Amino acid sequence: HAAMAALLHRAAQRHGAAAPALRVVSAKAADYLVVGAGFAGAVMAERIASAGHRVLVVDRRDHIAGNAYDHQDAAGILIHKYGPHIFHTNSDEVLAYLSRFTQWRPYEHRVLAEVEGQLLPMPINRTTLSRLFEVDLPDDAAAEAFLKSLAEPVGEVKTAKDFVISAVGRRLYELFFEGYTRKQWGLDPSQLDRSVTARVPTRTSADDRYFTDKHQCMPLHGYTRMFENMLDHRNITVMTGVDFREVPRANFGHLVYTGPVDAYFDHRYGRLPYRSLRFEHETVGQEWALPVGTVNQPSADVPFTRTTEFKHLTGQSHRMSSLCREFPMSEGDPYYPIPNPENAALYKRYEALADAEKGVTFLGRLGTYRYMNMDQVVGQALATARRLIPATRDAGAP
Ligand code: FAD
Ligand code: UDP
Repeated sequence: HAAMAALLHRAAQRHGAAAPALRVVSAKAADYLVVGAGFAGAVMAERIASAGHRVLVVDRRDHIAGNAYDHQDAAGILIHKYGPHIFHTNSDEVLAYLSRFTQWRPYEHRVLAEVEGQLLPMPINRTTLSRLFEVDLPDDAAAEAFLKSLAEPVGEVKTAKDFVISAVGRRLYELFFEGYTRKQWGLDPSQLDRSVTARVPTRTSADDRYFTDKHQCMPLHGYTRMFENMLDHRNITVMTGVDFREVPRANFGHLVYTGPVDAYFDHRYGRLPYRSLRFEHETVGQEWALPVGTVNQPSADVPFTRTTEFKHLTGQSHRMSSLCREFPMSEGDPYYPIPNPENAALYKRYEALADAEKGVTFLGRLGTYRYMNMDQVVGQALATARRLIPATRDAGAP
């Protein structure tokens, strides 16, 4: 009781005693504690609450929505604080679930890469090939034959480097992938799993969309608004600016933990490597700055990986525009698990600890050390909720 009172006191100081959340928690602790208010945590909290159980959600940041958090900047332009988040999925279930909390605006993301002074479509497609090599490629078959002439056989395709070289050859690998990947990960592509570069296909068509998923859209009023709707339930209490370590565990039943799994176990086996980023946000005085949503900088001579102009994504009208550049770093908030065999082996050891931990479910990009997109995290949380929470099935779809 003393620990709970201390937590409530600190939270009240940060947020003002009138916060309705505090009254709920002080009355009686919840059945579930969810750590992290990102996609993994918010979906779990919503499912738990809808099944009739009470849940406290804490996040150490001063806001909900995790890395998908968006807000208006000083100019009144909606920006993504932690870099561009574009929603795309092939899952009807994930889309239907999220559609309970938001309307959508259709948006198909396009990316150009700055290579040898030109802005060329990325993923590499027929247009990229014909512009870069100054060849006439009238149709897909011509592009396919041309790509075949560039591709180099590499035996078993294991690494991110193998994957690209075997598909498009050395020249395109060096121009589009080598510098970008070294910057983004601080590792050579030969030190990363193939899954990293396999995220970016190569096309023989002229399709210049970044994603080809069945559903591609952005929450009409932003991600944060969608999360507010998700968490707006009488069974849910949210406390931001509160670290898991401050919460008296004994007051709660089951724990859903979506923070870094190695931190939960006090880095017992050493630190799991995560890649971080510094986001440089800028507002410019002109209405538009870039021809498409994102311009990639694969060259090793440019310190950042990409620039995004948010209005392309959000559809907002404004006489000015806000941009974000991403500078990869080794220190800082953990954003990307780093996929390679060494890290997978270390994660396996933490996974064994996690599996043996009674009364705790580990979830999300950090909790399961998996390089997942938003829709994959939602899918993971929905599947986990079905297994974990009694009565969820009776409490309405999904
Ligand atoms: P998070 O969103 O990271 O949420 C975890 C939360 O836990 C955080 O808010 C953190 O503060 C909190 N937490 C951690 N430890 C503690 C603790 N001890 N106590 C309290 N709280 C704690 N996906 C896409 O589908 N499309 C995209 O375009 C896309 N772009 C991306 C761009 C960037 C730069 C990055 C980094 C990711 C991108 N993603 C994208 C991936 C997307 O961000 C993730 O899939 C998603 O945010 C993962 O949700 P999560 O809940 O697992 O983790
Ligand atoms: N990549 C690259 N050049 C590019 C775009 C991507 O080398 O122009 C590689 C890089 O290793 C990157 C990976 O492909 O980390 C996946 O790209 P994606 O755009 O999916 O990265 P994310 O949006 O998740 O940061």
